[in-house]
This record gives sequence, C-alpha cells and structure tokens, in this order.
Amino acid sequence: MNILVINAGSSSLKYQLIDMNGEKVLAKGLCDRIGLSGSVIKHKTHDGRAIEKEIVMSNHLDAIKQLIAVLTDEQVGVIKSLDEINAVGHRVVHGGEKFFSSVVINDEVLKTIEECEELAPLHNPPNVTGIKACTEIMKGVPQVAVFDTAFHQTMPKKAYIYALPYEYYEKYKLRKYGFHGTSHKYVSERAAVLLNKPYDQLKIVTCHLGNGSSITAVDCGKSVETSMGFTPLDGLAMGTRCGTIDPAAVTFLMNKEKLTTEQMDEIMNKKSGVYGISGVSSDFRDLDDAVEKGNERAELALQIFAYQVKKYIGAYACAMGGLDAVVFTAGIGENNPGIRQRICSNLEFLGIKIDPEKNKIRGAEIDISAEGAKVRTLVIPTNEELAIAKETIRLIGR
Ligand code: ADP
Repeated sequence: MNILVINAGSSSLKYQLIDMNGEKVLAKGLCDRIGLSGSVIKHKTHDGRAIEKEIVMSNHLDAIKQLIAVLTDEQVGVIKSLDEINAVGHRVVHGGEKFFSSVVINDEVLKTIEECEELAPLHNPPNVTGIKACTEIMKGVPQVAVFDTAFHQTMPKKAYIYALPYEYYEKYKLRKYGFHGTSHKYVSERAAVLLNKPYDQLKIVTCHLGNGSSITAVDCGKSVETSMGFTPLDGLAMGTRCGTIDPAAVTFLMNKEKLTTEQMDEIMNKKSGVYGISGVSSDFRDLDDAVEKGNERAELALQIFAYQVKKYIGAYACAMGGLDAVVFTAGIGENNPGIRQRICSNLEFLGIKIDPEKNKIRGAEIDISAEGAKVRTLVIPTNEELAIAKETIRLIGR
C-alpha cells in the first residue's frame, strides 16, 4: 500500500512516497521555484539514488507531472506506474471551523477548502491547486486532506475567542485557530506510547520548536490551548516572526515609520523574531555560534526564546490543572540541547528536571528526564508526512 504525501506551498511542493507496509519512505523530494525561472526538482530514493534537475515547471500541475515522472523513472524511480500509488494525502493548512479532522476529498470538500482561503490567503490556494492537479493526473485515486488546524478544533470557546467586539468573530470568523496540529497530535500520541499510559489520561505540553514554533496543551488527548492564533504569527518569538507583542505597537510603528500594511506585515513575519533581535540569523545554529563568540544580542535572542517557552509551559500546566509530560520536537526541539536546558532550568517546582547527559542526545526518541522527576520530559522527532499517510489509510479504510 503506497501513499503519496503532498505538501504544496506557493512556489514549492514537497512529496514523499511511503510504503505503509513497514512505514518505509520509498522516495522523497522537492519541486522548487514552481512558476519561476530555474525551477528544479530534487529527488532521493530510500536506497541512495538521487537526481537534481532543472526543468520548466510553470505551475503545480507541471510539478506533479514531473514528480510522477521521476517516481516512475527507470533510473531513479521506485514504482513502475501510477497504478502503484494507492492514495494521496495532502497537507492543507487551514480548515477553518469546518474541519475537525481529516477528510476524504470530494467536490463538496474541495469547495469548502476553497471557502477557507480567505483565512489563509498564502497557504490554502497552493494546497487547492495541488489537489486539483492530482485529481486531473490520478483519476480515481482517493485523496485525503489533513489540516494543520483540525487538531485544535477541540479548544473551548474561552481559549479561542479574542477580546474584540464579538461581531467580528461572527462576521469574519476572526478567532484563534492554531497550527502545526498534525505534529502536536503525532508527538503527543507517541508520548503516550513511550510512557506506556493511556492517551486519554495524560496532560501533555508539546513544544514544536522550528523555524515556526508553537506550543500546545494536550489534555486527555485533546488540544485545549495553543500558542499560534488567527495566523501562524502569534505566540512565541520565532526565526523571523515576532510572535505576541502589544497590538498597539503595530499602529505605533506604522505611524512613526509611515508603513503600509504590507510593509508592516513583512516586518512582523520576515524581519523579527530571533533574527530581528540578534541581527545575526534566524537559524539557532548560527545564534549558538555567535553566542560562543560573545555576541550579546544573539545571547539575548536565545534568552527571550527560552523564557517565552518556559512561560507557556507554566501557563499550560495551569490551563490543564496538572502536567504529566513535556515533549520537545521539530528542528530546534529535537536537535538543540542548549535550548532545552535553558527552557527546563529552574522548573523543579513544577516537577520538571532533565538529566544533562541524556539531554545531549539529538534527533532521537528519548526520555531526557532526571531520575525521579515527577513530570517526564521527552524528545520525539516529529513526522508529519507519516502522520498524513496514516490518516489517509485510516480514512480510505484499508
Ligand atoms: P521548519 O519550521 O522550516 O520545518 P525546522 O523544524 O527544520 O524548520 O527548524 C529549523 C531550526 O532547527 C533552525 O533554527 C535550526 O537551527 C534547527 N535545526 C534543524 N536541524 C538541526 C540540526 N541537525 N542540528 C541543530 N539544529 C538544527
């Protein structure tokens, strides 16, 4: 049973072909610069064959034709024909208030996803284009949409309503949605397996710390609170995103610097976060290097990031009325022991204490708690593609 997982962005499209018997990634790749000059496809197989070639891809339909060509290619292919793709799972960013879980795509579902475009104007349109392209090329192959927002649809109203005039929620569906849901769900479920406890009896805080970062309170298997909001700009300071700031700072800066909404948007999304604070980089590896060389603003950026994560852990333990486990995942959460150490320091009062030796480990599933710590601290590499493939299988009922 082979599942093709598609993650379509505005000018890129990532894919994985996963054999679900044994959960083996047969091949994965990236179509980059779609619709731009110098578009390129990069493709790698499980047994080390690889190809990178510049080829014209004017749109997502072209990109999907190209990825199918490489998947079935004589030299770098892993299947003989399209018939060996049993279903397609699509990452879809925004499901609004319409989708509480993944769905099999049909005309009505596609129309509803299109209706959510207003909420995610940058993300949903390429997702829809990817779905339409697969429908055209792989006629009759079942397709499933897996939403970043769906896991958070269990949040109670007190968590997702903003203190703005209520009519804006009614008129525009302006509210907190939360993102990275596939990852938060996947790692919290894995945590229950690793802890050998029932998922529906655990209080877990999941910290997805990557270029984009978010934290979720998973209470008895349900997301009850999360740090991203109406858009993925809210919550933590991230690589280049500012996260939560005083909303009045936005109008202040727009007035002072005579900025348009587009310029302000660009500052908050692309020029802020640890990059904006440090002036060095959005990548935590560069920040670590800069700190070693004595760069004080890089040090400040790391302090701010770790302090914010720490505060969310405390807040979410309160929101759930208890805490059994904290999970670190994504690029930074999985690979940066220094940040994990900063976050977990002085949290013994909450029951969190990590073992410095175990904390040295990167990129593996491991319990890094100190012996006797009341709250378990786990590192769990996320795997959104596998989660999407599993959802796809579950929904097509095979
Ligand atoms: P995205 O949100 O784009 O998927 P990632 O989850 O890959 O991003 O996170 C990117 C961050 O993770 C960077 O700041 C980088 O420093 C860190 N990171 C990723 N891989 C590693 C690694 N192998 N070692 C150390 N840090 C890493």
